[in-house]
Amino acid sequence: MLVNTLPGLAALVAILRSRGTFAFDTEGRELGTTEGALSVVSFRTFNAETFLVDVLAFTDEQLQPLFAVLADETVTKLVWDGRMDASELLHGHGVQLRGALDLQVADIAARRRRESFFDQKRRLSRGYRSVPASSITTAEFTDVHRLNGLRGAAEEFGLISRPAFRGAPPKFDHSRWLQRPLTAAQISYATEDVEQIIALYRIFCNKLYIEEAELKLQSAAYHSLHESGRPGRNDQYQQHSMMPLDILDLPSPYASRKACGGCKRELSQRCFPIRGGKCFVCMATGREQVKSTNTFGRGGGRGMLAF
Ligand SMILES: [Zn+2]
Repeated sequence: MLVNTLPGLAALVAILRSRGTFAFDTEGRELGTTEGALSVVSFRTFNAETFLVDVLAFTDEQLQPLFAVLADETVTKLVWDGRMDASELLHGHGVQLRGALDLQVADIAARRRRESFFDQKRRLSRGYRSVPASSITTAEFTDVHRLNGLRGAAEEFGLISRPAFRGAPPKFDHSRWLQRPLTAAQISYATEDVEQIIALYRIFCNKLYIEEAELKLQSAAYHSLHESGRPGRNDQYQQHSMMPLDILDLPSPYASRKACGGCKRELSQRCFPIRGGKCFVCMATGREQVKSTNTFGRGGGRGMLAF
Protein backbone atom coordinates (compact mmCIF):
# COMPACT_ATOMS: atom_id res chain seq x y z
CA MET A 1 0.00 0.00 0.00
CA LEU A 2 1.37 3.40 -0.98
CA VAL A 3 1.21 5.94 1.86
CA ASN A 4 1.12 9.53 0.61
CA THR A 5 -1.55 11.27 2.70
CA LEU A 6 -1.48 12.51 6.29
CA PRO A 7 -4.34 10.25 7.45
CA GLY A 8 -2.58 7.29 5.79
CA LEU A 9 0.65 8.18 7.56
CA ALA A 10 -1.07 8.44 10.95
CA ALA A 11 -2.72 5.05 10.42
CA LEU A 12 0.62 3.50 9.46
CA VAL A 13 2.35 4.86 12.58
CA ALA A 14 -0.40 3.31 14.74
CA ILE A 15 -0.05 -0.05 12.96
CA LEU A 16 3.75 -0.09 13.29
CA ARG A 17 3.59 0.73 17.00
CA SER A 18 1.01 -1.99 17.60
CA ARG A 19 3.05 -4.61 15.68
CA GLY A 20 6.25 -3.84 17.58
CA THR A 21 8.50 -5.70 15.09
CA PHE A 22 8.57 -5.30 11.31
CA ALA A 23 10.90 -5.21 8.31
CA PHE A 24 12.22 -1.81 7.32
CA ASP A 25 14.12 -0.55 4.29
CA THR A 26 14.66 2.64 2.36
CA GLU A 27 15.05 3.40 -1.32
CA GLY A 28 16.51 6.47 -2.96
CA ARG A 29 19.37 7.94 -4.90
CA GLU A 30 22.88 7.04 -3.71
CA LEU A 31 21.53 6.57 -0.21
CA GLY A 32 23.74 7.58 2.67
CA THR A 33 26.52 9.00 0.51
CA THR A 34 27.36 12.63 -0.22
CA GLU A 35 24.94 12.40 -3.19
CA GLY A 36 22.18 10.79 -1.14
CA ALA A 37 18.45 11.54 -1.23
CA LEU A 38 15.62 9.52 0.28
CA SER A 39 12.59 8.58 -1.83
CA VAL A 40 10.64 5.73 -0.23
CA VAL A 41 10.56 4.17 3.23
CA SER A 42 9.22 0.60 3.17
CA PHE A 43 7.73 -1.60 5.87
CA ARG A 44 6.40 -5.13 6.01
CA THR A 45 4.70 -6.71 9.00
CA PHE A 46 4.31 -10.36 9.98
CA ASN A 47 0.68 -10.02 8.88
CA ALA A 48 1.95 -9.74 5.30
CA GLU A 49 1.09 -6.04 5.07
CA THR A 50 3.47 -3.88 2.99
CA PHE A 51 3.54 -0.10 3.27
CA LEU A 52 5.61 2.18 1.04
CA VAL A 53 5.83 5.73 2.34
CA ASP A 54 6.33 8.30 -0.40
CA VAL A 55 8.79 10.57 1.41
CA LEU A 56 8.49 13.27 -1.26
CA ALA A 57 4.77 13.68 -0.51
CA PHE A 58 5.55 14.99 2.98
CA THR A 59 7.64 17.61 4.77
CA ASP A 60 10.12 16.43 7.40
CA GLU A 61 7.85 17.98 10.01
CA GLN A 62 4.92 15.87 8.82
CA LEU A 63 7.15 12.78 8.91
CA GLN A 64 8.15 13.28 12.57
CA PRO A 65 5.71 10.67 14.00
CA LEU A 66 7.15 8.08 11.61
CA PHE A 67 10.72 9.15 12.36
CA ALA A 68 9.94 8.78 16.08
CA VAL A 69 9.11 5.10 15.45
CA LEU A 70 12.45 4.63 13.66
CA ALA A 71 14.28 6.28 16.55
CA ASP A 72 12.42 4.29 19.22
CA GLU A 73 14.68 1.66 20.79
CA THR A 74 11.67 -0.38 21.96
CA VAL A 75 10.32 -0.90 18.42
CA THR A 76 12.27 -3.59 16.54
CA LYS A 77 13.23 -2.89 12.95
CA LEU A 78 14.46 -5.83 10.89
CA VAL A 79 16.90 -4.61 8.25
CA TRP A 80 19.43 -5.95 5.78
CA ASP A 81 22.58 -3.80 5.73
CA GLY A 82 21.18 -0.71 7.43
CA ARG A 83 24.40 1.30 7.23
CA MET A 84 23.36 3.57 4.38
CA ASP A 85 19.74 3.79 5.56
CA ALA A 86 21.04 4.96 8.95
CA SER A 87 23.43 7.44 7.32
CA GLU A 88 20.69 8.90 5.10
CA LEU A 89 18.23 9.18 7.97
CA LEU A 90 20.81 10.84 10.21
CA HIS A 91 22.49 13.21 7.77
CA GLY A 92 19.46 13.86 5.59
CA HIS A 93 16.71 14.05 8.22
CA GLY A 94 18.34 14.24 11.67
CA VAL A 95 16.90 10.84 12.67
CA GLN A 96 18.90 8.30 14.69
CA LEU A 97 17.91 4.74 13.74
CA ARG A 98 17.54 2.69 16.93
CA GLY A 99 16.21 -0.75 17.84
CA ALA A 100 17.43 -2.36 14.61
CA LEU A 101 18.32 -6.01 14.09
CA ASP A 102 20.59 -6.19 11.08
CA LEU A 103 20.22 -9.61 9.48
CA GLN A 104 23.33 -9.11 7.36
CA VAL A 105 25.34 -9.06 10.60
CA ALA A 106 23.48 -12.16 11.86
CA ASP A 107 24.32 -13.89 8.57
CA ILE A 108 28.07 -13.38 9.07
CA ALA A 109 27.93 -14.25 12.77
CA ALA A 110 26.20 -17.55 11.93
CA ARG A 111 28.56 -18.25 9.06
CA ARG A 112 31.50 -17.76 11.39
CA ARG A 113 30.12 -20.52 13.62
CA ARG A 114 29.35 -23.04 10.89
CA GLU A 115 31.81 -22.48 8.04
CA SER A 116 35.50 -23.29 7.71
CA PHE A 117 38.32 -20.98 6.65
CA PHE A 118 38.13 -22.72 3.27
CA ASP A 119 34.53 -21.50 2.83
CA GLN A 120 35.50 -18.02 4.02
CA LYS A 121 38.30 -17.94 1.45
CA ARG A 122 35.99 -19.13 -1.32
CA ARG A 123 33.54 -16.33 -0.59
CA LEU A 124 36.34 -13.74 -0.65
CA SER A 125 37.91 -14.96 -3.86
CA ARG A 126 34.89 -15.10 -6.15
CA GLY A 127 32.53 -12.54 -7.63
CA TYR A 128 32.71 -9.02 -8.98
CA ARG A 129 35.17 -7.94 -6.32
CA SER A 130 37.59 -10.67 -5.44
CA VAL A 131 40.80 -11.19 -3.52
CA PRO A 132 43.18 -13.62 -5.23
CA ALA A 133 42.94 -16.92 -3.31
CA SER A 134 46.74 -17.16 -3.13
CA SER A 135 46.96 -14.03 -0.97
CA ILE A 136 44.29 -15.12 1.54
CA THR A 137 46.21 -16.31 4.58
CA THR A 138 44.97 -17.04 8.08
CA ALA A 139 47.43 -14.46 9.41
CA GLU A 140 45.67 -11.62 7.60
CA PHE A 141 42.17 -12.88 6.81
CA THR A 142 40.92 -14.76 9.87
CA ASP A 143 38.53 -11.91 10.71
CA VAL A 144 37.80 -10.75 7.16
CA HIS A 145 34.38 -11.84 5.91
CA ARG A 146 32.62 -11.21 2.60
CA LEU A 147 29.23 -9.59 3.06
CA ASN A 148 26.18 -10.92 1.33
CA GLY A 149 23.74 -8.54 -0.34
CA LEU A 150 20.02 -9.01 0.23
CA ARG A 151 19.46 -10.63 -3.19
CA GLY A 152 22.51 -12.85 -2.68
CA ALA A 153 21.18 -14.02 0.68
CA ALA A 154 17.70 -14.58 -0.79
CA GLU A 155 19.36 -16.88 -3.32
CA GLU A 156 21.57 -18.61 -0.79
CA PHE A 157 18.65 -19.37 1.52
CA GLY A 158 16.41 -20.52 -1.32
CA LEU A 159 13.89 -17.65 -1.46
CA ILE A 160 14.63 -16.93 -5.09
CA SER A 161 16.28 -19.12 -7.63
CA ARG A 162 19.86 -18.57 -8.61
CA PRO A 163 20.19 -17.47 -12.23
CA ALA A 164 21.36 -20.26 -14.51
CA PHE A 165 24.33 -18.17 -15.61
CA ARG A 166 25.85 -15.08 -14.07
CA GLY A 167 25.11 -12.68 -16.86
CA ALA A 168 24.16 -9.04 -16.49
CA PRO A 169 21.16 -8.66 -14.16
CA PRO A 170 18.15 -6.67 -15.32
CA LYS A 171 19.00 -3.00 -15.15
CA PHE A 172 17.36 -1.03 -12.41
CA ASP A 173 17.78 2.71 -12.68
CA HIS A 174 18.27 4.06 -9.16
CA SER A 175 18.73 7.64 -10.40
CA ARG A 176 14.97 7.76 -11.07
CA TRP A 177 13.92 7.35 -7.46
CA LEU A 178 13.28 11.08 -7.14
CA GLN A 179 10.83 11.16 -10.03
CA ARG A 180 7.10 10.83 -9.60
CA PRO A 181 4.84 9.00 -10.09
CA LEU A 182 6.65 5.89 -8.87
CA THR A 183 6.66 3.21 -11.55
CA ALA A 184 5.25 -0.28 -11.09
CA ALA A 185 8.83 -1.59 -11.29
CA GLN A 186 9.93 0.69 -8.43
CA ILE A 187 6.98 -0.33 -6.28
CA SER A 188 7.64 -4.01 -6.81
CA TYR A 189 11.38 -3.54 -6.19
CA ALA A 190 10.77 -1.80 -2.85
CA THR A 191 8.12 -4.38 -1.91
CA GLU A 192 10.37 -7.32 -2.72
CA ASP A 193 13.13 -6.00 -0.46
CA VAL A 194 11.02 -5.94 2.70
CA GLU A 195 9.31 -9.23 1.79
CA GLN A 196 12.72 -10.87 1.56
CA ILE A 197 13.84 -9.35 4.86
CA ILE A 198 10.80 -10.84 6.65
CA ALA A 199 11.31 -14.22 4.95
CA LEU A 200 15.01 -14.29 5.86
CA TYR A 201 14.18 -13.37 9.44
CA ARG A 202 11.85 -16.36 9.69
CA ILE A 203 14.55 -18.65 8.28
CA PHE A 204 17.21 -17.20 10.59
CA CYS A 205 14.94 -17.66 13.63
CA ASN A 206 14.36 -21.30 12.69
CA LYS A 207 18.09 -21.84 12.30
CA LEU A 208 18.74 -20.09 15.65
CA TYR A 209 20.86 -17.42 13.97
CA ILE A 210 19.28 -14.59 15.94
CA GLU A 211 20.71 -13.77 19.34
CA GLU A 212 18.62 -10.70 19.79
CA ALA A 213 20.36 -8.83 22.61
CA GLU A 214 23.82 -9.24 21.12
CA LEU A 215 22.61 -8.54 17.58
CA LYS A 216 21.02 -5.26 18.68
CA LEU A 217 24.36 -4.07 20.04
CA GLN A 218 26.25 -5.25 16.95
CA SER A 219 23.66 -3.60 14.69
CA ALA A 220 23.88 -0.30 16.56
CA ALA A 221 27.67 -0.34 16.14
CA TYR A 222 27.31 -1.27 12.45
CA HIS A 223 24.83 1.53 11.83
CA SER A 224 27.03 4.10 13.52
CA LEU A 225 29.88 3.59 11.03
CA HIS A 226 28.96 6.77 9.14
CA GLU A 227 27.84 8.73 12.18
CA SER A 228 30.47 11.42 11.72
CA GLY A 229 29.56 12.13 8.09
CA ARG A 230 28.32 10.74 4.81
CA PRO A 231 30.92 8.53 3.15
CA GLY A 232 32.20 9.55 -0.27
CA ARG A 233 31.08 7.45 -3.20
CA ASN A 234 34.58 6.53 -4.29
CA ASP A 235 36.36 5.89 -1.01
CA GLN A 236 37.82 2.38 -1.35
CA TYR A 237 37.95 2.02 2.43
CA GLN A 238 34.22 2.69 2.74
CA GLN A 239 32.81 1.22 -0.46
CA HIS A 240 33.67 -2.43 -0.23
CA SER A 241 31.76 -5.59 0.59
CA MET A 242 33.61 -6.92 3.61
CA MET A 243 32.45 -6.90 7.22
CA PRO A 244 34.14 -4.01 9.04
CA LEU A 245 36.06 -4.99 12.18
CA ASP A 246 35.07 -4.46 15.82
CA ILE A 247 31.39 -5.07 14.95
CA LEU A 248 30.93 -8.83 15.31
CA ASP A 249 33.32 -8.74 18.24
CA LEU A 250 32.51 -5.52 20.00
CA PRO A 251 35.58 -4.17 21.78
CA SER A 252 35.61 -3.70 25.52
CA PRO A 253 35.29 -0.04 26.48
CA TYR A 254 38.75 -0.34 28.05
CA ALA A 255 40.48 -1.81 24.98
CA SER A 256 43.32 0.33 23.74
CA ARG A 257 42.67 1.59 20.25
CA LYS A 258 44.39 3.14 17.33
CA ALA A 259 43.18 4.97 14.25
CA CYS A 260 43.29 2.99 11.02
CA GLY A 261 45.19 4.70 8.22
CA GLY A 262 42.58 3.49 5.71
CA CYS A 263 39.05 3.65 7.11
CA LYS A 264 40.11 6.14 9.86
CA ARG A 265 38.09 4.23 12.45
CA GLU A 266 39.43 3.97 16.00
CA LEU A 267 39.84 0.21 16.29
CA SER A 268 41.15 -2.13 18.95
CA GLN A 269 44.71 -3.41 18.56
CA ARG A 270 43.59 -6.90 17.49
CA CYS A 271 42.36 -5.40 14.18
CA PHE A 272 45.92 -4.63 13.07
CA PRO A 273 48.98 -6.68 12.16
CA ILE A 274 51.95 -6.26 14.48
CA ARG A 275 53.48 -3.75 12.11
CA GLY A 276 51.24 -1.70 9.87
CA GLY A 277 48.88 1.21 10.08
CA LYS A 278 45.86 -0.28 8.33
CA CYS A 279 43.30 -2.69 9.74
CA PHE A 280 42.97 -6.17 8.22
CA VAL A 281 39.87 -5.19 6.24
CA CYS A 282 41.51 -2.09 4.75
CA MET A 283 44.55 -4.22 3.88
CA ALA A 284 42.21 -6.69 2.17
CA THR A 285 40.55 -3.94 0.10
CA GLY A 286 44.02 -3.13 -1.25
CA ARG A 287 44.27 -6.68 -2.55
CA GLU A 288 40.83 -6.72 -4.13
CA GLN A 289 40.50 -6.88 -7.87
CA VAL A 290 37.38 -5.45 -9.45
CA LYS A 291 36.13 -6.96 -12.67
CA SER A 292 36.08 -4.47 -15.51
CA THR A 293 32.37 -4.75 -16.30
CA ASN A 294 29.60 -4.85 -13.75
CA THR A 295 28.12 -8.21 -14.56
CA PHE A 296 27.63 -9.44 -11.04
CA GLY A 297 24.85 -8.91 -8.57
CA ARG A 298 22.79 -5.91 -7.91
CA GLY A 299 24.71 -2.71 -8.39
CA GLY A 300 23.46 0.80 -8.54
CA GLY A 301 21.91 2.92 -5.93
CA ARG A 302 23.09 1.54 -2.65
CA GLY A 303 26.60 2.78 -2.42
CA MET A 304 27.64 -0.69 -1.34
CA LEU A 305 27.79 -2.46 -4.64
CA ALA A 306 28.00 -5.76 -6.30
CA PHE A 307 28.01 -8.80 -4.11
ZN1 LIG B 1 40.57 0.20 8.40
